[in-house]
Parts: sequence; structure tokens; C-alpha cells
Amino acid sequence: KIKTVNDNYFGSYSSFGIHREMISDKVRTDSYRQALMKNPSLLTGAVVMDVGCGTGILSLFAAQAGATRVIAVEASEKMAAVATQVTTDQSDGNNSKSTGVMEVVKSMVEELDKSIKIEPHSLDVLVSEWMGYCLLYESMLGSVLFARDKWLKPGGAILPDTAIMYAAGFGRSCTSLPFWEDVYGFNMSCVGNELVQDAARIPIVDVVQDSDLVTHASVLQKFDLATMSPDDVDFTATIELEPNLTESKAALCYGIVVWFDTGFTSRFCKEMPALLSTSPYTPKTHWCQTLLTLRDPIAIASMGQQPGDNSAVVGSEKCPVTRLSLRISIARGVEHRSIDISMEASGVDAG
Ligand code: SAH
Repeated sequence: KIKTVNDNYFGSYSSFGIHREMISDKVRTDSYRQALMKNPSLLTGAVVMDVGCGTGILSLFAAQAGATRVIAVEASEKMAAVATQVTTDQSDGNNSKSTGVMEVVKSMVEELDKSIKIEPHSLDVLVSEWMGYCLLYESMLGSVLFARDKWLKPGGAILPDTAIMYAAGFGRSCTSLPFWEDVYGFNMSCVGNELVQDAARIPIVDVVQDSDLVTHASVLQKFDLATMSPDDVDFTATIELEPNLTESKAALCYGIVVWFDTGFTSRFCKEMPALLSTSPYTPKTHWCQTLLTLRDPIAIASMGQQPGDNSAVVGSEKCPVTRLSLRISIARGVEHRSIDISMEASGVDAG
């Protein structure tokens, strides 16, 4: 049997390791817990659907928070069985609220109709942890929007309800160059150079520190989950980035780091909004950040730098620019669940 893309995708969610990684990501899981548990006016008595429940963790929070019905949908057979068992196992503990409230359904949300009866537009709350690397990798958002359009009440809550992508320029410290330059005293820069060229073709998921950034951050794209259409995930954004150089006045920008925040805003979380940030300025998450490397680095300098003085930028023959102009396009790939990213960067001179 030839495996389809979906077989591989749901197969990958059958291993416990990935679920442990997600649950252990406290930044992630606590933001959902806060949104679900600290907003009683939203959750008390609510009918909730959890799209892609995995172990059932978000559904358990919803049940604990006082929801009267929680439909936990999971396409992976293994995880649906686990979530069912986990639900039953809460019956004699402090969390007995979830028994009788939670209903685990093994199905793709797109085919849920075949398994259970839910009235159209009958959900008060739709919750899902659908975000992939660079927000959109895996393209699970379409499934959440499908559920929104079919079952969410008019004015019902979607959690999270906003997603914002950001971009900033990164410097040399973020590349493989420093490592290969000095390997026990030997110069292996040729490896670093090759890796930088490879990285210009395939994005890298890695941890970026705020000290690695050479520009300020700028919003790349904003999504309103309550109103967006599934096709909005294919977009082109044009932004400008300004240098943020504290110690030196000029630096080489080797590429652009992209990250996202998702918001559980006061629109639905009236008592206590929450924010899940995957930025380089906040504690790291299992999403890390996504690095888009430039084929050739661009020298940038803050305004104070003398025009034409490139002495501060070692290894660059070009004069530094004072702003970076970026055009980034992201689109769902032909191969379902992949994304295609293209980026053009150029320098903008002062004046
Ligand atoms: N909610 C869990 C798991 C999140 S991972 C948690 O927060 O820990 C996303 C889960 O969604 C995976 O288990 C995956 O198998 C499931 N999933 C993805 N697309 C789905 C779809 N279309 N229908 C049902 N489940 C889906």
C-alpha cells in the first residue's frame, strides 16, 4: 500500500514523543490553559469542539472549566484511543467533571458528520492547536476554518482568535559560519559557506536569541481567525526593516527570521486574555523560529554611520544601507501540507 500524505501526517502524530514535546512546551500549553480556565463567562455551560485533540489535554481543560459538552476530534487512530482512555481514567480523580462531558471522536474533522450528530452553528467555542513551524507549515488551519464555518454559532469564540507573523533581520552569529571558522583551531569555513548556501534554499528551524537580530521586527501578516478565509494563508507581504545595532554601527544581515504570536484576545477571553508568543524576545517554544537565509548578506548601518564608510562591516565590499526592503510570499505547496516561501531582499539607502 502506498502511503498518502495524510497517512504520513497522522502517522507522525501517533508517536507519543511529539505529544510529550507539545505538552511539555509550557509557553504553549499554559497559554491555552489560561484562555480556557480563566474565562468562566466563556466556558461555563459552553458547547466546545477541540479540533485535533491529541491526548485530549485542551478538551480536559475545557471540561474542567465547566463546559457542558466537549467534542474532541482526532484523526489519528492511536491518539483518539489514547484520548478516550484518558477521559475514562479521570472518572475517579479530582477531574471527574470531564467524564460524561467529553466525547472523543476518531475522525478527520472534515468527515465528522459521518460519525456524530452536531447541529450546524451550535458550538459556543472552537479551540484548536493547529500552528506549525513558521505558523503555516502543515496547513492544519484549513480544517479549523472548516469547522468554524460549519458548526460555530454566529459570534461564537474561536481560540486562539488572532495570529500575527513577524520578521526581523539576523546577523552572522545565527549562521553556521562562526562554528566552522574555528574547529579546535582549524579553519573549516568552507563547510560553513556551503551550509549558508544550502540554507538559502531550505528554511531552517532553530532557536534565535534577540542578540542575534540586526534589525527591529516588523509585522509580516495578520490573520483574524474569526473572519479570515482559508485562501488568506497564501499571501505576499512587502515590509521594511530598520537596523537595530547597539554595539556596532554596521553589520551584515544574513537573512530573515520569521516567528508568530497567537492571541486569545479580549474579544472572546473577556476576563483574562492570553498570548502565545514564539518570538526571540520571549522564552523559547518547540516551534523555535524559522530562518530564511539570503544568498548574499546585505550590509546595513544605522543612520549615524558615515555614508560610504564600510569599515565597520568586515568582509563586505558594499556600502551599508540604512533600511532593508523585503518581499515575502508564502503559499500552500502543491504537495499538501508543505508551504512554499519566496523572499526578495534589497537595501534602501537613506534619503
Ligand atoms: N490538541 C493537542 C494536539 C495538538 S497537535 C494538544 O494541544 O496537545 C494537532 C493534532 O491534530 C494531531 O494529533 C493531529 O493528528 C490532529 N489533526 C490534524 N488535522 C486534523 C483533522 N483534519 N481532523 C482531525 N484531527 C486532526
